[in-house]
Amino acid sequence: MPEAQMDIALGFTIPSRNVRGRIVRLGPVVDDVLSAHAYPPAIARLLAEALALAALLGTTLKDVGGQLTMQAQTENGAVSLLVADYKPDAQGIGDLRGYVQFDVDRLVEMGGDPSLFGLFGKGYLAITFDQIANEQGVGGRYQGIVPLEGASLGKAAEHYFAQSEQIPSFVQIDVRQDADGWIAGGVLIQHLPEGEVGRERLHVRHDQPECEHVQILAETLKAEELTDPELALEEVLWRLFHEEDEVRVTARTGLAKGCRCNITHFRDVLSRFPAPDRVEMADEQGNINVDCAFCSRIFPVSLAGFSN
Ligand SMILES: [Zn+2]
Repeated sequence: MPEAQMDIALGFTIPSRNVRGRIVRLGPVVDDVLSAHAYPPAIARLLAEALALAALLGTTLKDVGGQLTMQAQTENGAVSLLVADYKPDAQGIGDLRGYVQFDVDRLVEMGGDPSLFGLFGKGYLAITFDQIANEQGVGGRYQGIVPLEGASLGKAAEHYFAQSEQIPSFVQIDVRQDADGWIAGGVLIQHLPEGEVGRERLHVRHDQPECEHVQILAETLKAEELTDPELALEEVLWRLFHEEDEVRVTARTGLAKGCRCNITHFRDVLSRFPAPDRVEMADEQGNINVDCAFCSRIFPVSLAGFSN
């Protein structure tokens, strides 16, 4: 069943190498998210890549109430804003959503296959983890911001891990589009200090040979393997790491498109505007039509419902 190999994230560890990682492959969920928009291919590809990265990062969240948000922003690029987020739902399925704001004329000027730098110019990537704090106050909100550098979003994310979390990390994301739709595959491999797999990090050493060894193995990974809809993710891991003593799959998470927009929220936002401004925004029927940037659904908010 090819379907079974899509919209899935696996968590894994290689205990003997102090390595932990995630591997994901997104298929229908990418098409689902993109179906709400009419993006040109370069933008669709960028969002597919961002969704795969959001899934890699988001599945490291420890609790169901948490959320991972990625935001790439620039003032001088063809893309002005890219947002992708991940939130596990009550059933433990990872809900993904995202959108891109861009200048179509500037995109056309760049031709068919613009680079990350071409799309964003001088931009930055903000990665925010929101987790419910435990009794010891561990958790809460954590945000790291890094420049949008490197050939891809994945490489920018490596900078994030190096700078913000000081964990040597390898990220690869590959995207393809064929007649059946989009497929985005990704892998995140992190090297933890001795004996810290599965525990909180205490200190970091960058000079460990295990780290280089795993990095070299990871670089043998082919884009076709990450994006092959019929190749099980377990099989991809096995091909990469079959010489290791043990590769332990620690988690398997399903992924879906999920938007959290609701009319109550939009009404709440609009209630903060002065009443005359709201009248100005309304159509002839007395509705303010608010569209969700993520899923493009339109919510008609009636002027009649406001008390101020
Ligand atoms: Zn929505």
